[in-house]
Amino acid sequence: MNFLKKYEKEFAEYDKYDHDFIDDDKIWAQLNKWENPSRADVRQVLKKAEKCVRLEPEETAILLQNRDEGTIQEMYELAHQLKEEVYGDRIVFFAPLYISDECANDCKYCGFRRSNTLMHRKTLSMDEIEQEVRIMIEEGQKRTVLVYGESPATQVDFMCDTIKKVYSVKTEHGEIRRANINCAPLTVDELKKLKAVGIGTFQVFQETYHHQTYREMHPKDTIKGNYRWRLYCMDRAQQAKVDDNGIGVLFGLYDWRFEVMGLLYHTIHLEETFNGVGPHTISFPRINPATGTPFSMHPNYAVSDSDFKKLVAILRLSVPYTGMICTARESEKVRREVIPLGVSQIDAGTRIGVGAYAKSKSANRLPDQEQFSIGDSRSLDDVVGEICDMNFISSFCTACYRAGRTGEQFMKVAKSRFVHNFCIPNAIFTLKEYLLDYAPEETKAKGEEILKQHIEKFKGEPVYNRILENLKKIENGERDLRL
Ligand code: SAM
Ligand code: SF4
Repeated sequence: MNFLKKYEKEFAEYDKYDHDFIDDDKIWAQLNKWENPSRADVRQVLKKAEKCVRLEPEETAILLQNRDEGTIQEMYELAHQLKEEVYGDRIVFFAPLYISDECANDCKYCGFRRSNTLMHRKTLSMDEIEQEVRIMIEEGQKRTVLVYGESPATQVDFMCDTIKKVYSVKTEHGEIRRANINCAPLTVDELKKLKAVGIGTFQVFQETYHHQTYREMHPKDTIKGNYRWRLYCMDRAQQAKVDDNGIGVLFGLYDWRFEVMGLLYHTIHLEETFNGVGPHTISFPRINPATGTPFSMHPNYAVSDSDFKKLVAILRLSVPYTGMICTARESEKVRREVIPLGVSQIDAGTRIGVGAYAKSKSANRLPDQEQFSIGDSRSLDDVVGEICDMNFISSFCTACYRAGRTGEQFMKVAKSRFVHNFCIPNAIFTLKEYLLDYAPEETKAKGEEILKQHIEKFKGEPVYNRILENLKKIENGERDLRL
């Protein structure tokens, strides 16, 4: 079968609708209506956001159009407060694992696109995957996201084999306990196969919600050229019972305010269709330069650092129960600024070339094998140290997913005291493991201090003694303990 015609029948189903849930004109009308909101308008929205509820599009439009420095500061303060309330003082760590850069698509912004002759093409063998995973585990990673282009070399059965391989690797210090994936949209049957091998979050970014821009970025004769196939892929994931889903936008393709509205409408569509279950995470990558990819050097709608900061805070305020991922595409400085505004997950120790963990033990420079260049190439330990300095607990926890608390179950716990009683203790245990198994003395000292401060907060609560007991067990060599 011609690979590019693989989903032809499925595409026809989506072509039957005369509209989808993204109405470009309506989004612009909402943004234009609130061209210049008053302080009182903004404060009214913040008053609602304080209650930790998902905002309506018009309310988010007011925040997006706010240009008043005073109330922008109030937005930042509230975003920080909501992050603390919903997620506590913890940041979850992961690292990507690039499996293949072969791709039949031709996205204008991406170094992997088929017309990029400067890219060295490679798909990892099972032995090479094992080698990469061993290095990741030896550096302290417990969570990964597997990344693939869309090509005949990386169809769903191959993806399943790669996931099984990742989970099968055990070293003296442990294993990868959660493998998420970032790949092309799939059919319900394909997604069921991924569910069966135990994927964590299924991530697909819409890239841009703006229909015309989407057409310009993704040629018609490619699979990715079909906007609706991508837009409805999380609906298919839910139908396949893959219920931890990650959506995202590639910022820089179109107006950032429109894109935030798109993410909100996508969230609302999923909540309304699937019993209140919206996306598990939202990603908000900005375009970074990629070898042989002129568009990526000068994107049409490059987002400034100050707008980026605003969009992170506005997302936090608009969808308080959705995890937010800030990747190493961003520089150390930008990450330091936006983490307190609502980010719940970051990657560190990141290498994004195919086979790059084995090839570049520390420095991340393999331009002809990288999808784009990253902004923060520090080691995992450097970033854990900095997160300690920022007074957050670095977490490698995978408990919810392994206990089946995903989708609707996860939403229930996220909206309760669960984070305080379970997630924070579990974060404490995984940081303790990290400090014992991987950290140099300096990080150990910082980490132990953070642990002490956070354990103190549980004094007098029923869970306090269980935390101390588990920490003792971890010191005595037990691993992978969780509440
Ligand atoms: N090939 C699959 C797809 O397109 O959905 C999955 C993985 S793709 C390798 C991961 C994501 O990287 C894309 O969804 C896109 O948002 C992002 N990306 C592509 N080019 C980029 C660039 N130049 N800078 C930053 N992120 C980029
Ligand atoms: Fe391929 Fe994904 Fe890159 Fe597009 S973004 S060229 S689909 S790897």
